[in-house]
Amino acid sequence: MTLAICLNCGGKKFGAFNVCPYCNYANSQENQLSLVLTDWCIHNDESFDIIGNMIREIHKHSNDPEIRDLVLIQYLFEEFPNIISGELSEDNLEIAKTILSKCTIPSPKSELSEEKNIEFQKNEELNNDIDELRQEYLNMSPYVFDIVINEDHLFTAKEKEDIAKYGNWFDAIWNGEIPLSTKKLKHFYEAQKDDYKGRTKYEELWYRYKKIEGLPF
Ligand SMILES: [Zn+2]
Repeated sequence: MTLAICLNCGGKKFGAFNVCPYCNYANSQENQLSLVLTDWCIHNDESFDIIGNMIREIHKHSNDPEIRDLVLIQYLFEEFPNIISGELSEDNLEIAKTILSKCTIPSPKSELSEEKNIEFQKNEELNNDIDELRQEYLNMSPYVFDIVINEDHLFTAKEKEDIAKYGNWFDAIWNGEIPLSTKKLKHFYEAQKDDYKGRTKYEELWYRYKKIEGLPF
């Protein structure tokens, strides 16, 4: 199914025009951005996250959906010319530029993690960096979990909330994307082994979730 970004909240959802599970907004069929913000045009996860974050950032600076779209279009012209190219009219460009100048533009994650890795080897305030890195992951779009998880009564509402909130971060740890520089991180990473004893609450939740996600139903 098509993976898409919600134009209202920047969350990831399935289907370009389906209602967003996070904010109940549905991208309009009349708006060409609805199709641009899908995996037909966007080909990597990182760009999904960056654009989602940017939508949330723009939201902070304008309540008008049409203006927000203009700002996003100009942002995409500048940062993602491979996804969409063109030019806004002079008036619209001015509106877009004014708002863009107030936005904190998210930088691509890969660059960030490369810089971080170098820092990690040198920096003594390792924990601060980890906190920052963790915050970056928590600021990403809510973790998109398998539809099955939603339909079955396998997880409590609180557990689903935790998965949505921490999923990107937990995934990154298990995938070895995070330097295991603290005891807690090492513990969490090790907890993916089947024979691991003494999982904490979150380790157990993530272990259980990943087991179910991997099942072929
Ligand atoms: Zn949404």
